[in-house]
Amino acid sequence: MGLFYFERNMKHIGPHVSASGGVENAPLSAAELGATAFALFTKNQRQWKSAPLSKQSIALFKEYCGKHGFSPDFILPHDSYLINLGQPDETTLPKSREAFLDELQRCEQLGLTMLNFHPGSHLKMMTIDQCLDRIAESINLGLSQTSGVTAVIENTAGQGTNVGFSFEHLAHIIRKVEDKSRVGVCIDTCHTYSAGYDLKTAAGYEATWREFDEVIGLNYLKAIHLNDTKKELGSRVDRHESIGKGLLGMEFFERIMRDERFDNIPFILETPDETAWKEEIRLLQEMSR
Ligand SMILES: [Zn+2]
Ligand SMILES: [Zn+2]
Repeated sequence: MGLFYFERNMKHIGPHVSASGGVENAPLSAAELGATAFALFTKNQRQWKSAPLSKQSIALFKEYCGKHGFSPDFILPHDSYLINLGQPDETTLPKSREAFLDELQRCEQLGLTMLNFHPGSHLKMMTIDQCLDRIAESINLGLSQTSGVTAVIENTAGQGTNVGFSFEHLAHIIRKVEDKSRVGVCIDTCHTYSAGYDLKTAAGYEATWREFDEVIGLNYLKAIHLNDTKKELGSRVDRHESIGKGLLGMEFFERIMRDERFDNIPFILETPDETAWKEEIRLLQEMSR
C-alpha cells in the first residue's frame, strides 16, 4: 500500500526591495531575506526621467534572478508615483504617457512580464467615468508600442481623487483595454479594506473574492500586495501596517496563505517596518505550508 502525501504549494512571497545602486541589487536583497517573489522600481520613482538601464545592469539583473530562482512570474515592478494615466489636463497628460511607456520598455529590457501601477486621479477636473476611459486609453497607447508586458492595475484605497477603489472601476478600465491578454489586476489588501471591502471576517473574505470574480474575474488577478492596515473599513485612507499588527489581523493572513486560488501569483509586502520583513516572510511561508 502506497503512502500518498500531498504537499501544498508554498506561496511566493517577498517585499518591495530597494534598487538603489542598480536594479541588479534587487534580486540580491530579496534572496538575502529568504523571499520567493519581489517588487522593485526600475528607475527613481520620484523623478520623471532617469538614465537608461545600462547593458551591464540588465545582464546582471537577469543573471542574479536566474541564480536565485526568481522567475518573471513572481517579479512585480512598480511604476513611478508621478505618473497619472488619467490626467485630466491635456497639456501634462503626454508626460505621464511617455513616462509609462518608458516604464514598460524598461520591463521589456529586463525580461519582465508585468508592470504594476496605480490607475490615476481625476483631480476634480473630470468625472470618474471619464477618468477611467482616459486611463484605458493610456494603457492602450503603452501596450501598442511594446510587447510581452502585462499592465497590472492596482486597486486603491480611494484616498483623495484616486480612482480604482471599487472593483467596478477596475472592470471598467479592463473593458476598454483592447488587448485583454495583456491587462490584469493587483489587489492590495490594505487598500481593499480601506475602500470598504471587509476582508477581515471569514464571511467577508469569501464575499469579497466572490464579488471580485463576478465583477472582474479571478483570471485577471495577477498579484497581491499583502499589507495590514492602520485605518478602519471604508475609511478611504491608505496607511499600511506590518503583518498581523493592524486591523486585518493575523487570522486574515492565515486564511489567505491557505487559499489555493493564489498559489501561482506573487504576494508582495509593502509593510512599513523593513527590519521585520525577514520574519514576516518566514511566518507567512509557514502559514502557507
Ligand atoms: Zn500596494
Ligand atoms: Zn498603499
